[in-house]
Amino acid sequence: MDPDPSRGVAAAHATRGGYVVALDVGGTAMKGGLVGAGGEILLTDRRPTPRDEGPLRVIEAIRDFVADLARAGQGTPSGVGVAVPGLVTEDRAVYSANIGWKDVPAAGFTPLDVPVRLGHDVRTGGLAESVLGAGRGERDFLFLPIGTGIAGAVVMSGTPYGGSSGWGGEIGHIPVFPGGERCACGQIGCLETYASAASVARRYAERLSRAASTRTPGLPIRTGDLYGGPPARRDLPHPEGPQNFRSPAPGLRTPGSVEERALPPEPGPRPSGSVEGGSVSPEPGLRPSGSVEGRAVSPRPSQDVTSLGSSPYVGELAPARGHATAEDVVRLAMRGDPAASAIWDDALEALSYALATYTLLLDPSMIVLGGGLAQAGPALFDPLAERLQSRLTFRAAPPLRPAALGMNAGMLGAALLGWQAAGVPNPGATWTLDVLRSPSVP
Ligand SMILES: [Zn+2]
Repeated sequence: MDPDPSRGVAAAHATRGGYVVALDVGGTAMKGGLVGAGGEILLTDRRPTPRDEGPLRVIEAIRDFVADLARAGQGTPSGVGVAVPGLVTEDRAVYSANIGWKDVPAAGFTPLDVPVRLGHDVRTGGLAESVLGAGRGERDFLFLPIGTGIAGAVVMSGTPYGGSSGWGGEIGHIPVFPGGERCACGQIGCLETYASAASVARRYAERLSRAASTRTPGLPIRTGDLYGGPPARRDLPHPEGPQNFRSPAPGLRTPGSVEERALPPEPGPRPSGSVEGGSVSPEPGLRPSGSVEGRAVSPRPSQDVTSLGSSPYVGELAPARGHATAEDVVRLAMRGDPAASAIWDDALEALSYALATYTLLLDPSMIVLGGGLAQAGPALFDPLAERLQSRLTFRAAPPLRPAALGMNAGMLGAALLGWQAAGVPNPGATWTLDVLRSPSVP
């Protein structure tokens, strides 16, 4: 921590209206800050989350961080807000598979004798986008950060909704391709399995390696047989055995309950292009805008994967083949690389199904996309908006908007929680973006 530049500011501010300690705890890093009553960011800092050292050590690190931030602020903070992953209520961290803790009371995260409030990490980010960011003034919207994983903050009547038990917003585990790939959670065909940044990178790497290993003359293999968009055909050996599935997250699901079940015929996300058993011409690149006729469902690029090894674009990644990031995949897709296009197309298809379902169920006024993959910009927003609209026949699709607060959403949301804990009604209502940007947050 380098409190020197801000220490004086924080100290001066502490005498005027107080401040809160805000902490956003992620799986790899914690972002902390001191935030004044008017939204002034007095200090920020970042530390690694010692997840590998066990949950007790993580709690200890959080307590130390809160104490150090408060010390830098000089004077007792008005409250503490902490955003954590997993199953969370405002006064208890019930469970986190990611970090490993169970049933930690809010007070356990701070050594200070001040009011404290907990929030779910994504819902806390959604709170910040709702009060301060892209959702400001919107009562009903979805905040969907697309990063390593996918979860949503369902904002209803201005409040992120956690549901009856705190599981609300797990849109990443909505099945979008029945008969598709198994998700880490144990379910089949989850959105996250196709559209998270980690999944896009993983599926691309798998596709390249399988393309290289399945170049067997005379054996026609469809894209879907390999990559799980459509179900496996039962008349061909499935190259991806259950042993290749990742282990389900502990405590989430009993593994194996679905594996042996016969897969039903697919209703099919693609009415055209899924040629039975044969190879069809590769469709280079993402589909151009306007390719969706009326309300027809978009076909996905289909091609004989045996041709992938000869992709003229794959060579670009030769030094790091198999290690392309999601951003690389999007970039390659935009340049017409067939393998990358197919993977990105699956991600867009999956997102459009999930968002159509969300739209029909909850009628949001907008959908705010954040997280690393939202940095793809038009490569994500344009085709996704088009596909979402193509799935909705009797209503307009809600607009897709980029998140406004970036990686700071969680910390700013935690500050709002801290002010809520301090008893301030509607914290953030008068904060301006100018104030939030000064000084800049690392
Ligand atoms: Zn899942």
